[in-house]
Parts: sequence; C-alpha cells; structure tokens
Amino acid sequence: MNAQTSAQAFDIRRVRADFPLLARTVHGKPLVYFDNANTSQKPLAVIEAVDRHYREHNANVSRAVHLLGEEATTAYEGARDTLARFIHAPSRDELVLTSGTTQAANLVAYSFVLPRLKPGDAILTTTMEHHANIVPWQIVAARAGATVKAAPIDERGELIVEKFIELLTPEVKLACVTHVSNVLGTVNPVRELAKACRERGIPLFVDGSQAMPHRPVDVQALGCDFYALTGHKMLAPTGTGALWAKKEHLEAMPPFFGGGEMIREVKFSGTTFAAPPHRFEAGTPNIAGFAGVAAAIAYYDALGFDAVRAHERALLDHATAQLREVPGLRLFGEANDKEPVISFLVEGAQATDLATLLDLEGVAVRSGHHCAHPLMQFYGVPATLRASLAFYNTHEEVDAFVAALLKVRRLLR
Ligand code: PMP
Repeated sequence: MNAQTSAQAFDIRRVRADFPLLARTVHGKPLVYFDNANTSQKPLAVIEAVDRHYREHNANVSRAVHLLGEEATTAYEGARDTLARFIHAPSRDELVLTSGTTQAANLVAYSFVLPRLKPGDAILTTTMEHHANIVPWQIVAARAGATVKAAPIDERGELIVEKFIELLTPEVKLACVTHVSNVLGTVNPVRELAKACRERGIPLFVDGSQAMPHRPVDVQALGCDFYALTGHKMLAPTGTGALWAKKEHLEAMPPFFGGGEMIREVKFSGTTFAAPPHRFEAGTPNIAGFAGVAAAIAYYDALGFDAVRAHERALLDHATAQLREVPGLRLFGEANDKEPVISFLVEGAQATDLATLLDLEGVAVRSGHHCAHPLMQFYGVPATLRASLAFYNTHEEVDAFVAALLKVRRLLR
C-alpha cells in the first residue's frame, strides 16, 4: 500500500473512539494530548484486557495447578509469544519480561557487562541518550574502574556515525544506542552500527522505547545483541516491558534478582537457577499488565504500521511546517529520518511557563530536560518543550496546538 492509500484507509474518527481518555476535557477545553513520548494513551481493548484479567482469571503464574493459575500463566506466557513474534525474535526464550526499558538496561548492566568489565575498559553510548541508557552503565563502570564514553551528534541531532565507529576500540565491552531519540525524534541507523559492532566483536544494546510505538521492529534484521522496550509508550499498561537478548548472552548471564520463580533447586549448600528467560524473572510479575501488552500488540496488528506511519508522517510534516512559521521558535532535531517528536523553544519564554499556559488551553506537552541532561548540555539549554505525536492525533489538534502556542506566547511578552 502506498502512503496515500494507507492514509485514506485510516479512519481517524474510529481510531479515536477506541481511546476513551481522548474525549475528556482539561480546564474546560478539549484535550490535545501531545505527550505521547512520555506515555501513550490506552485503547479500550487494553483497558478491557486488564479488567477482564482481574474479573475472570486472576491468580499467580507458574505455581498453581488450578484452572485460574493455568489461565493466568497462559496469559502471561502468551504475551511473551506475542511480543517475540512482534519483534521477530528467533525464540520466545530470548525474551525476558521486565517492568520496562529501565529494568532491562539494569539487567544488562549488572548481569552482562559488570562481570566482563575490568579497569580501563569502557562502555560506549551516545550524546542523545535517555538517562536509562547512560546511568546504569556509569554505575557498573564505576564499580569496575571502567568508563563511559559518548559518541557525538551534530547540530541537526544526527549521530555522527563515523565517530561512533571510531570509538569502537578494543576496550569497549558494550556499545549502546537509542533506536529513536525521545527528545529529537532522530532515528539512528541501527543496522549499520550493529554491523560495525559485529565486525569488532562488540555487543550492541539498543533502547527501543521510542521506536516500538512508531515502526515495525525486526531484531534479527537489525543485527543487534540486546533490544529493550517499554510497554506503556506502545498502548500497553505501565510497568510492562521486555529485554530481547541473543540466547548465547542470556545463557552466559548470572541472575540479577534472586527469589521465587527463577530457581531450579534451592539448598543452603547452593542454589541452581532456572534456564533463561525465567532465571531473570524473580517474583510475581505484572500479569494483568502483560495481558494488556498482548491486547496492545493485537491493536497495532489490526491497524497496521503502514497506516500508522503514513498518518504520523503527515502530522509531523504539518506540525513542523506550522512551527517554522512561529517567530522566534527554535527547533531541536532536524534529522532526515525522524519520528513525530518535536522539541523546541520560543525566544523570550521559559519552557515551563509555556507548558503551564498551554495546559490551561487544553494542550498537554512536556517541558524539561526529558531525562537527557547530556543532550541539553550539548545544545546549551536547560530545557525544551516537546510535542510528541501519536497515530490517534489529528491535523486539527496540531492547528489548535499552534494557535494556543501563539496565544500564550503573546501573554508572556
Ligand atoms: N529510553 C527512552 C528513549 C525513553 O524515552 C524512556 C522513557 N522516557 C526510557 C528509556 C525509560 O523507559 P521506562 O521508564 O519505561 O523504563
């Protein structure tokens, strides 16, 4: 399907009717929700899947032989199957279910990298990363006497690929990159980076948090070693996510959290552990949340990424063109390949003041450092405003947002 036909096939009114929250007002104005990179809204199918789980199937997983226990286990393990298929993982056993990307990165930091690090070693990340793709590496590097290096970006917010590759020196034990920047929308060339890493025998960790809501992901085609994702940005409940890792890595990784569910046999003389992925899933997981993850993926499947991408592309172009016309507005992130995330500042106005006034107009955008201090330092600003769009947003909402921005900007003068 070409972009135009898929855009025509996309019935935005029907899509919006699936998201009950979009119908509410804030401060007496219709809500314009442009904080999707922070967390997405949830379709009824997801809300109902969670509700149904608690009404009809609630029990703990992997422990009980009774029917409810079996149903809860089927829901939880079924979500693993669904996620594995969604990201084209070679095996469901390569998918560790987590509370989100943050937990996934910490698992890799403590269980994969820390045991491999020695003094003088390094972990390579980039200047555009979320703190979740910086701080876990800093913590384990400090323990081992290693360092964290950052590959630079250019003014347009694109990774300088040659520099990233140059920095892949023998002391680098892990390279890390975000698939899509949560501040700039930049899409990084993961395949190319993964190839360079493979040629040097350096494993690559990819933060997929902001890519998953917008594009189909195929971890085998990307060629990385680890891929982390978070459910709540892709229509699913908070507290859900996953780490996909190559089997050979998971098998070599010691457990990070200890407790129930992750053991084979416990004795005071020594405990043996379950095989991956259960080795990394100690304790009771977010079972209802993962019932929601399966429903979220079914929703994306029914919609199709062709339609999502065509609509989001049109929204991004429309919003960018209008914002360029706003006097004194500075855009951050003008990569060739970018997802619908727009960071900006308006001359003479504080980001937080603008966001507060926009909220009074019904427009929800985020202001602040977006958990990306090093990126703010690169641009020499303390904060930006960020409008992040989703497939359920409309051109009319973009117009309302720009009109509100022009209005509140006048108030601040
Ligand atoms: N990485 C990126 C790029 C993100 O945008 C976020 C969420 N803001 C995270 C990691 C962390 O995700 P979570 O808090 O769901 O673990």
